[in-house]
Amino acid sequence: MRAMLLEAPGEPLRPRDRAPPKPGPGEVLIRVGACGVCRTDLHILDGELAHPRLPLIPGHEIVGVVAGLGTGVKAFDIGHRVGVPWLGGTCGICEFCASGRENLCDRPRFTGYQIDGGYAEYAVADARYCFPIPAGFDDVAAAPLLCAGLIGYRTLRLAGEAERVGIYGFGAAAHIITQVARYQGRSVYAFTRTGDEEAQQFAKAQGAAWAGASDERPPEELDAAIIFAPVGALVPAALAAVRKGGTVVCGGIHMSDIPSFPYDLLWGERSVCSVANLTRKDAAEFMDLAHKVPVRTTTQPFALEHANQALNEMRSGKLQGAAVLECNKEGQN
Ligand SMILES: [Zn+2]
Ligand SMILES: [Zn+2]
Repeated sequence: MRAMLLEAPGEPLRPRDRAPPKPGPGEVLIRVGACGVCRTDLHILDGELAHPRLPLIPGHEIVGVVAGLGTGVKAFDIGHRVGVPWLGGTCGICEFCASGRENLCDRPRFTGYQIDGGYAEYAVADARYCFPIPAGFDDVAAAPLLCAGLIGYRTLRLAGEAERVGIYGFGAAAHIITQVARYQGRSVYAFTRTGDEEAQQFAKAQGAAWAGASDERPPEELDAAIIFAPVGALVPAALAAVRKGGTVVCGGIHMSDIPSFPYDLLWGERSVCSVANLTRKDAAEFMDLAHKVPVRTTTQPFALEHANQALNEMRSGKLQGAAVLECNKEGQN
């Protein structure tokens, strides 16, 4: 099979031919239809997340069809369409797993980080961490739901009952979560890089009530803010925009250092928290919600071989919506 491999952090991915993986006990072999490109992939490539498996096939927004079954798999059969998210495995016995917080597991395994992911024609995954993909989404449209949508949804949930929600960084996660927030009757205020009018228009097209630059004050005080951009300086900016009792939720896995700020910004029972990973319960809830809204993803498809280009465009902020690799496009084999 063809795969895009990370051989050393800091280097571009290399196209390689490899034997397709074999599903072990409890695992499924998946013919990958599409795999989303997530900012976390960039953090792994850049060496900002330590100790990836090497060489590594990145990619943790996998949508594909079950093409082989390891022993003991009951939940899926050959031909079923499944999704594989970032959470690829947990220990099941630590105090976090035992208390319904498997996202915080002490010994987790993550797809496209410790486990080979979906930047390839085939992938294997632990069937217990895969889930069905709702009808109504083709493979490319569904891929961004697997992380941008899912972890974005967890981030929105941590914003509580907030009615006026600010979103800093309007990429793949924000465009999905804006639709979900609107469905829930909330108003969204979108913050982009200064002067990025295209992104601001895109945010409004997804249902944002207001869009402006991240150093602007919104027209009303916010009840909560979500930060998807990996920029620590946005934390004090967001705190300044939320009202008393408001929450600032950091939705990314990595962020540049947060500059010091006056206590006044935190005073008034404001809080700052982060979101880590996902639980399988989040996945089930969100996929059901995505179908109900229904979420319409904006995607930019790339051929598997063009993964580096997709990553570079994400890095430069050129993309609208989500980049998705088409890993088994007909006629490419
Ligand atoms: Zn991700
Ligand atoms: Zn655990």
